[in-house]
Amino acid sequence: MANEVDNEMTNELADESANELANQTNTNGNPVVSDEVDVSDENMVSDENIENDECDECNKTFETLKRLAGEIGFEHFGKLNTDALIFREEVRAMCEDDRCGSWNKSWTCPPACGSLEAISRRAKRFSEGILVQTTGSLEDPFDMEAMRDLEALHKQRFQTFVRQAEQVCSRTLPMSAGTCTLCRRCTYPSRPCRFPGRAHPSMEAYGLLISEVLERSGMRYNYGKNTMTFTSCILFQGQKPERP
Ligand code: SF4
Repeated sequence: MANEVDNEMTNELADESANELANQTNTNGNPVVSDEVDVSDENMVSDENIENDECDECNKTFETLKRLAGEIGFEHFGKLNTDALIFREEVRAMCEDDRCGSWNKSWTCPPACGSLEAISRRAKRFSEGILVQTTGSLEDPFDMEAMRDLEALHKQRFQTFVRQAEQVCSRTLPMSAGTCTLCRRCTYPSRPCRFPGRAHPSMEAYGLLISEVLERSGMRYNYGKNTMTFTSCILFQGQKPERP
């Protein structure tokens, strides 16, 4: 039966799926990089409505990140309008309602990831960002296997993207999708995080409404009937000097 997976459902299912994966699967697999990806501007979103201050260095860095996102295989990517980053207590309240089952269970989720004030202060230091999305097809809205596969693919891609972005930018702040699933079982709260440099709080943990950030950045949340989309972003600043 063909049904459309709407925004809200997509979000909830992503979180549920992430939670299941946190208990069952180690998604720390090999990076998914294709040498033959079309990195034409077809996948790119128009920058028309984006009001970020422009600077040559930022533009160059963004162009590099855009190319890397295409090479890694993200279906959609575009400039993040940092004015769209509104850190909402309501989103944190949803975390606390524990609808995804991750509240107080991971170093990357509330409350362990820090108060909204503290975490948003970190993000406000950045004026540039890039959004990346993995979109795939589902047989129906209950196609959990496809959702799990898609989430794992998105997380693998994002880990690769973060590593590459760190080589390009002076400073980065990655925001992932869903709870961290790097370890089969999170060490929280009894022992320190095993991979503090690779475990990143989600956009929701930052109190962000993903649909709002996407809309105000000129990007879509829903790519049609029987599709599901995972969204992450990297805030960045500066450009690393090129090696001689
Ligand atoms: S990397 Fe850290 S936050 Fe992620 S699952 Fe492992 S211990 Fe938990």
